[in-house]
Amino acid sequence: MGYLAEECGVFGVYNNTAIDSAQMGYFALQALQHRGQDGAGMVVSDGKHAALVKNIGLVTDVFHPGELDALSGKKYMIGHVRYATSGATNVLNTQPLVMRYQDGFLALAHNGHLVNSKALSRSLRDIGVLFQTDMDTEVLAHLIARSHAADMPGKIAEMMAVVYGSYALVIMDRNHVYGVRDPWGIRPLCIGRMENGTYILSSESCALDVIGAQFVRDVAPGEIVSIGPDGLRSYPQPQRSGGGICLFEYVYFARPDSTIDGVSVYESRFRAGQLLAQVAPVEADIVAGVPDSALSAAQGYANASGIPYGDVLVKNRYIGRTFIQPGQRAREMAVRLKLSVLRGQVEGKRVLLVDDSIVRGTNSIIIAKMLRNAGAKEVHMRISSPPVRFPCHFGINTPNQKQLIGAGQSVEDVRKLLGLDSLAYLPLEKLEESVKGSSCGYCTGCFDGHYPMNLAVCRRKCALQPKTKEGR
Ligand code: 5GP
Ligand code: MG
Repeated sequence: MGYLAEECGVFGVYNNTAIDSAQMGYFALQALQHRGQDGAGMVVSDGKHAALVKNIGLVTDVFHPGELDALSGKKYMIGHVRYATSGATNVLNTQPLVMRYQDGFLALAHNGHLVNSKALSRSLRDIGVLFQTDMDTEVLAHLIARSHAADMPGKIAEMMAVVYGSYALVIMDRNHVYGVRDPWGIRPLCIGRMENGTYILSSESCALDVIGAQFVRDVAPGEIVSIGPDGLRSYPQPQRSGGGICLFEYVYFARPDSTIDGVSVYESRFRAGQLLAQVAPVEADIVAGVPDSALSAAQGYANASGIPYGDVLVKNRYIGRTFIQPGQRAREMAVRLKLSVLRGQVEGKRVLLVDDSIVRGTNSIIIAKMLRNAGAKEVHMRISSPPVRFPCHFGINTPNQKQLIGAGQSVEDVRKLLGLDSLAYLPLEKLEESVKGSSCGYCTGCFDGHYPMNLAVCRRKCALQPKTKEGR
């Protein structure tokens, strides 16, 4: 069975207000849309029944007025936006998952990627468990449903004891919505609150702002929280050492108006740009960022270097993920469709372009060519993160090592390949400095190969949860 690696967004609410949960979810999932554009879904409940709508596509494609009406008037909901990085994009592989078990219904939505899901699903299938999807999330649902622990936090804790990998989860049963963060803290999850005591769970704090909720705190690594008629409750579980929040959340993935583990994403990017100017100065006439995710770092670079900041590239904001046929011509057209050059800003100038990351190098090579064609005298590039040298096993869509341009080659080789006058990256210790203050450490795996867990060992771990009386 092929498992999907995915970076996604999750959201949940237990609602005491007159505001409809489905309406809140609809807006919040749009605020999390950058975390996944391949599918969306939400499940709502009044405590007795669960109603689910999910499909492939953007949030606004999936939920039409008719569907929202069908979901309206319910007290609580969980929702998901999906970023499929491999495997089939079909409705079966969208989330939330809703299943029936001995205590009624169980709904789950997952952001992250499990390392030992194959081993676990093999041992579950050995005892007759049937699987309906390709998603590792389904393994989590079966583990929770099989548990004999007395209550839902106990069942979730038993699941957590045997699962390795990254997961930020929202789970719903008949009485509560639960938030769960993996014991390494790799994926983000935070708690919000509205004035009348309604609690919210969200991958990122930007979704709280949209619905008018206040940020309360991040869910701690290894923590289970429940929200329900009894308010907010916490069930801490053991944390695992050597982990931490994914640095790529700050570099590229999260929205700049989110705060993760106590650090503003915008401020961390601005600081990364300032540090980049210190460690990799260059003489240039204009500093620009590749829209949108590198603009904050470019502003930081301009601020620290004194070189004027200006726009050089304009982004077509209506282009989503583009189906690209193989071949260089189609790839170039796709980049030119997304980004165009402001000729007057670059003609005859020494241009310093800041990007947040280089993965395959496909964008940079075309952008450098576009700037030269538009008359730039020199094209320099500065990257506000280190070279991506190792694949991510925890949910970010980095390709295998052969396709990573920074993996086998020196910075000088990459500079020549991209046709740049100069190229420099932000060293890892400076990137860590830019996010200093984060409350739970960092995963630096894609930059230095130091993963939070021993992958070879953890992949084989398949012990199902012990059946103890208390379940703890
Ligand atoms: P490259 O062209 O080197 O393959 O990718 C680098 C560019 O893609 C950068 O501009 C960066 O902002 C963006 N990028 C980095 N990670 C991701 C990702 O996971 N998904 C998408 N769509 N773009 C990414
Ligand atoms: Mg970019």
